[in-house]
Amino acid sequence: MSDPAAAESTGDDAPAAAESGSDGRGDGEILLRVTDLVKRFGGLVATDHASFTVERGTITGLIGPNGAGKSTLFNLISGFYEPDSGRVEVGGADVTDLAPHEVADHGLVRTFQTPRKLEGMTVREAMLVGPQSQPGESFVKLFTAPGEVARAERKNLADAERILEEFEIDHLATQPATDISGGQMKLVELARAMLAEPEILLLDEPAAGVNPTLRNKLAEQIRRLNEAGTTFLLIEHDMEFVMGLSDPVIVLDRGSVLMEGTPEEVQSDDRVIDAYLGGSP
Ligand code: ADP
Ligand code: MG
Repeated sequence: MSDPAAAESTGDDAPAAAESGSDGRGDGEILLRVTDLVKRFGGLVATDHASFTVERGTITGLIGPNGAGKSTLFNLISGFYEPDSGRVEVGGADVTDLAPHEVADHGLVRTFQTPRKLEGMTVREAMLVGPQSQPGESFVKLFTAPGEVARAERKNLADAERILEEFEIDHLATQPATDISGGQMKLVELARAMLAEPEILLLDEPAAGVNPTLRNKLAEQIRRLNEAGTTFLLIEHDMEFVMGLSDPVIVLDRGSVLMEGTPEEVQSDDRVIDAYLGGSP
C-alpha cells in the first residue's frame, strides 16, 4: 500500500531546471494555467480576474472562506460554466470554451462538492457513469459504432474492478450506491474519477462529512495517486487535511487569488487570517 514517508519526495526525480517558483515539489511544468478569469452572476462577481498555475506533480491546495468562489472556479476550469472573460489552459492547450467531456479528453477531470444522485445503481454501475460524461454521447455511438461501444464497456468494467481493488473498496461493488456511507461515497467518487485516467484531478471538498478513519484513507489514496503521477488541485475546508497534503496552497478571497505559498506561509499570513475572519466587504 502507500508509503506515508514517500509523500515528501514527490517529483524528486524530475529535471532540475524548474522555471517556476514555489517549493520544488512539482517538476516545473505548468499543467494548468488560469489567466484573468471572470464570472458574473447578475451583479455578483463570483470570479474576479483570478490567475494562477498548477505545476505537474503537485497536490495544490485551494482554500478560502465560504463564498470565495472556489467551486465556481472549478466549474469554469472544467467546462461546466462559461467564463465572461479569461483563459484556461491544460497542458498548453486552450480549453476555455470546451465542454466538460472535451476538457476531460485534455486530461482534466473534477469531482463535485455534492456527489450526484445514484439511485437504483450499484457501486460498480456508478463507477461506469463517467465523471463528466455527457448524456446521450454513448447512446448515439451505440448506433454508429456498436462494436466500439462494447469493447470500450468491457475495458471500462475491467478498469473499474481494478480501481475498486486498488482503493480497497471492491467489497462494495455490488451494493446499492445509496446504501454506502457518505465517506465511502467520497472514495467511490475519487475511484470513479480515476477511471478517466486524468493528468490532473480537481477535488471539491473530498473530506467534507467523512469520518476520521475514512478521511485518513482518502488522504492516503490521494498521496498514492500523486506518487503514481496524478496532479491534484484540492478544495478543502478541513485545514489539517488540506495543509497536510498540499504544497503549494492558493488562497482565494472574493473571487481573486489573495496569495500562494507553502502551508506554513499561508497559515501565518495576516491577509489570510483577515480573509477568514473578515467575511464580506
Ligand atoms: P465557494 O465554493 O468558495 O464556497 P462558490 O463558488 O460556491 O463559493 O460561490 C461564490 C459566489 O458565487 C457565492 O456568492 C455564490 O452564492 C455565487 N454563486 C455560485 N454559483 C452560482 C450560480 N450558479 N448562480 C448564482 N450565484 C452563484
Ligand atoms: Mg464550494
